[in-house]
Amino acid sequence: MLNVIIFGAPGSGKGTQSAFIVEKYGLEHLSTGDLLRAEQKTQSDLGKLIESYTSQGNLVPDELIISMLAKVLDTKMNKKGYIFDGFPRTTAQAEALKVMLAERDMKVSVMLDLNVTEEELIARLLNRGKTSGRSDDHFETIQKRIQVYHSQTAPVKDFYKKEGLAIDIEGLGTMDEIFARITKAIDAL
Ligand code: AMP
Repeated sequence: MLNVIIFGAPGSGKGTQSAFIVEKYGLEHLSTGDLLRAEQKTQSDLGKLIESYTSQGNLVPDELIISMLAKVLDTKMNKKGYIFDGFPRTTAQAEALKVMLAERDMKVSVMLDLNVTEEELIARLLNRGKTSGRSDDHFETIQKRIQVYHSQTAPVKDFYKKEGLAIDIEGLGTMDEIFARITKAIDAL
């Protein structure tokens, strides 16, 4: 079983590269951002609550995201493994994931950290904002999301470094070049 965490700042290419990884390795793609946006779309009370965080570039509370992911893990069984995209985003989530997987006889195989400069992140997100229709892809919220990434999410890397699971991937270049670096890292496991 291969359980990959794709890590990196907003705009680092996690979603794009996840799609390539899913196709090559047959993993189940679990994107917490996609799950949250699906709930927002329903305009349920929960969806509205979620939107009050995401539209401001803030993280959704840990308890909410952890229970959401646990449910999805049980409904989307996949023997080959999973790719976790946009999760964990806090050290508490990383600890919860470890427990959640252990309870199901699984563990994280690798954490791939896509390294992209801040200039490039902002340029990519502004460009995506032209067509994504996402309420968080505009300048002020992009800056907030990058700030939140540095303060709350970047420390997650230390958690996986300690576990010997973190691998840096150069995230600049063409999509194919970046994917080639990722497959090299995965195939060497
Ligand atoms: P993403 O599509 O991964 O960029 O996520 C979009 C937004 O959803 C983020 O800016 C957060 O507000 C929220 N979000 C996604 N994943 C998480 C998570 N693991 N923990 C907390 N909030 C999250």
